[in-house]
Amino acid sequence: MRKRIILFCTVLTFAALAISGAIALFAVEQRYLKEARSFLIGSMEAVMSSGDSAVSFDTIAREKAGALKNGVRITFIDLDGVVLGDSEADYRTMPDHAGRAEVAEALRTGFGEEIRHSDTVGVDLLYVAKKYGDVIARFAMPLKNEQIFAADILPSIIIASILSLIAAVIAVNLLMKRILKPFYELQKVLSEVLGGKRTKIPESEYAELSPVVEGLNEMTGRIDTYVKSIRQQTEKIDNIIRYMQEGMILLDEDLHVLLSNEAAHELFGLESDLNGKNFLHLVRNKEVISSLHAAVREQKPIVLDLKKKLSEMRYLRIFISPVQKSAGAIMLVSDITELKRAENVRREFTANVSHELKTPLTTIKGFAELMSEGMVKDERSINKYAMLIRFEVERLINLINDILRIAELEETSIPVNLEEVDLKEVAEDVRSLLTEEASKRGIRIKLQGESVKISAFRDSIKQLILNLVDNAIKYNRDKGTVDITVGRKGGKAFIAVEDTGIGIPKEHQQRIFERFYRVDKARSKKTGGTGLGLSIVKHIAGLYKGEIKLTSEIEEGTKFTILFPIAH
Ligand code: ADP
Repeated sequence: MRKRIILFCTVLTFAALAISGAIALFAVEQRYLKEARSFLIGSMEAVMSSGDSAVSFDTIAREKAGALKNGVRITFIDLDGVVLGDSEADYRTMPDHAGRAEVAEALRTGFGEEIRHSDTVGVDLLYVAKKYGDVIARFAMPLKNEQIFAADILPSIIIASILSLIAAVIAVNLLMKRILKPFYELQKVLSEVLGGKRTKIPESEYAELSPVVEGLNEMTGRIDTYVKSIRQQTEKIDNIIRYMQEGMILLDEDLHVLLSNEAAHELFGLESDLNGKNFLHLVRNKEVISSLHAAVREQKPIVLDLKKKLSEMRYLRIFISPVQKSAGAIMLVSDITELKRAENVRREFTANVSHELKTPLTTIKGFAELMSEGMVKDERSINKYAMLIRFEVERLINLINDILRIAELEETSIPVNLEEVDLKEVAEDVRSLLTEEASKRGIRIKLQGESVKISAFRDSIKQLILNLVDNAIKYNRDKGTVDITVGRKGGKAFIAVEDTGIGIPKEHQQRIFERFYRVDKARSKKTGGTGLGLSIVKHIAGLYKGEIKLTSEIEEGTKFTILFPIAH
């Protein structure tokens, strides 16, 4: 801007100088003309007043013109236009002069003048003619031409121009500095505002800039608000996408990745920077690729289940939806491995339950048939078979009770309104419940330790301890012992049930918590076991953030320890 203003001022100065030069030239010319005219008229008056009638007009013309110099030419003409004498040419050969403009004018009005170009001399000549009685005196002199004038005054104009130009540039520079100073100041604070060093542009000391400052402050304020809200929105969306459990991949029309989250990278086993990469090259799975093409082509969503081998086998469910506007697609991927596993467990459980129910029922049916067909006659045998039927029925009832308990436990995933349960009190209950049963085989149940409370449902904790102590009796040797210990350990409450029984082989220790898993099926059945006791223990412990520990030695005994958070 500064350069343009200086250039503009220079051009302006030049134009002004050119115009004033032209005006000066014109004025000088006019003045010169006036002077030339009055010189001619003055000389004419002087010549005519000192007239000598004895001398011829031609002689006067020649003598006076010679005295006047300046190239003055004097001609005398009579009223008919006949030349009477001339200072330069032979008047006798000169043509009639009545038609010359200045002469004609003098004939009419007494005085006439004209400027005419003379081809002979190559300059303009000023002619002045005046009537004196019956003679017309005509004086002429050459005029300086314009170039001469221009040459006269050009040096002064050039000097004036240079001086004016220098003065103009200095003046404009100073002025520009003064005018632009507030703008530079504004520019500086504006860049500070943009750089985040300031939040607002301070009030300007120049009143003219106040509206600009106000406008800028208003604008930066608004932009700030917009940017903040846009940033918040993007952060929200970013967080949703980043932390969602499902994998998300957004593809453009050429199936290049526009956006993807960490979950998607993990589920597909891909690197983390996918932006701009062709999805078809990343996931070389026929099913996924053809489903993607189909979803985009037919513009309808597609759901696809996929088995993928990562560190272990995973099951993925992929929802592919076409994105209408950009003609790409969005993919949501969820890990359904747990779902599949749960489905399998349920399927297995149903099959196991059917099998477990069928066995006692078949036995009962067999005995009942024997009895109804009269094959068992004596009272002793009838009693024996009736006892066997009763045993199987009891097993059935136990089984159904355990199945119902498991179903019930599965429903209550997050327990609320818990009570404070004293582990020692509950253990004491269990001990008195099972003492008689244990004493039949000479087994002693001992309880020791201190009272400690946990947050739980009393009934479920009782069930847990009952199952553990029941097993400790069932899998004990005759005259063995069961030691129940309750107390605190490492900031936790614990209950340990230790027996002197048959022990659990190492390779079975992991699996005994599975449903219907038994180390020795025959022994379990003989003792009325359902194979569900420990899976109920595991489930109940899990409900209250309990941790199960197991140590066991074959033919020496087994110790189950369950640690719970203490109730506060
Ligand atoms: P069951 O009804 O067969 O006892 P559980 O789920 O309670 O079913 O136990 C699963 C299996 O774990 C049992 O069949 C048994 O083989 C083994 N087991 C459980 N507790 C003990 C123990 N205290 N000593 C030895 N083996 C045990």
